Amino acid sequence: MEKLKIAVQKSGRLSEKSLDLFSECGINLTSSSGKLISVASDFPVEILFLRDDDIPQYVSDGVADVGIVGENVIYEKEKHLEVVEKMGFGKCRMSLAIPKTEEYNGPKYFDKKRIATSYPNILKKWLSDNKIAADIHEISGSVEIAPGIGLSDSIFDIVSSGSTLFMNNLKEVEVLIKSEAVMVATKNLSQRKKEILTELLFRFRAVQKGKKNKYIVLNAPLNKVNDIISIIPGMKSPSIVPLAKDGWCSLHSVLNEKDFWQVIGQLQEKGAEGILVIPIEKMIV
Ligand code: ATP
Ligand code: ZN
Repeated sequence: MEKLKIAVQKSGRLSEKSLDLFSECGINLTSSSGKLISVASDFPVEILFLRDDDIPQYVSDGVADVGIVGENVIYEKEKHLEVVEKMGFGKCRMSLAIPKTEEYNGPKYFDKKRIATSYPNILKKWLSDNKIAADIHEISGSVEIAPGIGLSDSIFDIVSSGSTLFMNNLKEVEVLIKSEAVMVATKNLSQRKKEILTELLFRFRAVQKGKKNKYIVLNAPLNKVNDIISIIPGMKSPSIVPLAKDGWCSLHSVLNEKDFWQVIGQLQEKGAEGILVIPIEKMIV
């Protein structure tokens, strides 16, 4: 039986979230600790655990059919892979940073400077686009300490909160790319593998949509129902259930998480009471 081979980071920032995804999609993997391959007992997929740097190559060669990896790694490896889904985690940016005390006067600052990075290709492209001749020092980790120990004048590295830069007396001066984890696929998947991927994405999207929405239940006087429906229209239309108390009903709807706090105040103003907000596990529209 044909299986879809999925490359996932073996151990690192993307590993746990990638594996959670499979379990949330009802895909149970055989114990994965320390192994290179894990198969699912109840879904036709096989997981290959790899270093993230190797994933673009494996997918581009077709050794893996799909892979979950940061866009930054794909850009760096200069592989042209089809992105089939944005995963919504592993968000970061890649930036140039210089010592806090330095004055920054635009890209020209980097002319003849030494820049330490683990991502030389992305950096080279930006330098050449900006016609800057800098000296790239490729190092494999702990890039942020390079200026402090005299290895370089500045760095090009991954930034998320900026606290690592701050602790190393650096400041971010140029954002070169933004990145998040994506699912990429190899070219020429077989018909069967395409079907498996479609089913996987269907489940994944149902879980993602569920996470972004909340189920909301509230009590309202009947004469306020129309006002309330205009605030929380739900998927098709809210359900209305009569209450034992005359002139009142219970209204059930779905609400996007990001609108939540703003909407809650409006609902109270319209007379809603006893508001319950409940997580949604999966949502199929
Ligand atoms: P590997 O051992 O697989 O080579 P790694 O050390 O290169 O792992 P991680 O630090 O685990 O990589 O990061 C994996 C990916 O997570 C990054 O390529 C990036 O896309 C994403 N990421 C998101 N936020 C951060 C962050 N604050 N620091 C580092 N990576 C981040
Ligand atoms: Zn890596």
